[in-house]
Amino acid sequence: MFRTIRDIQFKGKRVLIRVDFNVPLDKALDITDDTRIQAAVPTLKYIIAQGGRLIVMSHLGRPKGTADPKFSLKPTVKRLGELLQKTIAFASDCIGEAAMKMARALKDGDVLLLENLRFHAEEEKNDPSFARALASLGEIFVSDAFGTAHRAHASTAGIADTLPAYAGFLMEKEITYLSKVTQSPDRPMVAVMGGAKVSDKILVIENLLNKVDSLLIGGGMAFTFLKANGFKIGKSLCEEDKITLAKKVMEKAKALGKLIVLPVDVVTATGIKEGVASKTVVINAIPDNEMGLDIGPKTVSAFKTELLKAKTVLWNGPMGVFEMKPFDAGTRAMAEILTTLKATTVVGGGDSVAAIEQMGAAEKVTHVSTGGGACLEFLEGKALPGIEIFSRDIKNMVGGA
Ligand code: ADP
Ligand code: MG
Repeated sequence: MFRTIRDIQFKGKRVLIRVDFNVPLDKALDITDDTRIQAAVPTLKYIIAQGGRLIVMSHLGRPKGTADPKFSLKPTVKRLGELLQKTIAFASDCIGEAAMKMARALKDGDVLLLENLRFHAEEEKNDPSFARALASLGEIFVSDAFGTAHRAHASTAGIADTLPAYAGFLMEKEITYLSKVTQSPDRPMVAVMGGAKVSDKILVIENLLNKVDSLLIGGGMAFTFLKANGFKIGKSLCEEDKITLAKKVMEKAKALGKLIVLPVDVVTATGIKEGVASKTVVINAIPDNEMGLDIGPKTVSAFKTELLKAKTVLWNGPMGVFEMKPFDAGTRAMAEILTTLKATTVVGGGDSVAAIEQMGAAEKVTHVSTGGGACLEFLEGKALPGIEIFSRDIKNMVGGA
């Protein structure tokens, strides 16, 4: 079990909350996409409505431990104020006397935003005295920044040595769905894996093999598996040093009685170029000078057959070079199939999420994970430092229950 913001009363308490306001800025330092700020609003409003006194902290970009105005969080103050319909106070340093004074001056429902945490090198080093300096500003710690939960930084993990930690709504949703697919999926459970490299995904595959009923493999990494099965793959992406590993994975799957489905046809071309001539061939007919850049329609149907049986689906990694037509078709087809299923459907991975958003299907699946690296580590079965904090013993802490 993990603690969430539903488990505590915030009235009159100074609540330090770690959010992800790492928004893209243009040259004039105007926000070009405020999705991440909007995403934090439900948690912030919930705490404000209870009479909590919010101290909001985030990183923005990679200022590498110096106070670089290009990476200031100042541009987010106005937008946050509009979204919360409140005046937002701003502390130009996230620790120190001025921040402390402003934090102590907060009344119930007030909001203070702290300057970029990464203006201090100690943040990413998880320096204990820096973490204590941050913690001293508040009485309760809330984290809603799933995207950095795989990093043990002062603001994601270190603070929880001093303050009791609670998951915000965004964090809760990520943990709930990612735990469900990796720990207690409704069966049959089907994982669709793709993307560029076996080496990037092997730990996920090995972890999921124990949980899934079937594993569908597309994308660039399928070719290492196909080669391991003795097929000719032309110039397709292949990691020679992972062929033995691919064989082992397939043997293990067989021993466990799990089905692995590989492509039976692919879309090929001489290279990854816009407007290049392409054709669909069966898997053993890839010309020597061409590469497989997407799964073909027969593979889509084979994958669909498995997906239609599923009660739980996890998708990680595009089926082809989706960034370029016509190699987006396989990924597009997968996205469409997912939206028609009654199953719990979870999509994770930076490029997979970009693909499903680009295809307008993100709203129609159960959960789209917001954290690329954090999501992968979760799927690998690792304990994440920014999540482990929600189940720590908090009896002897300042605001502990
Ligand atoms: P995610 O970010 O969702 O975890 P990855 O980063 O592992 O996914 O992989 C995404 C990349 O894989 C995309 O840039 C895509 O173009 C590439 N890719 C997919 N299929 C192929 C292929 N057959 N050949 C080369 N690259 C591929
Ligand atoms: Mg990626």
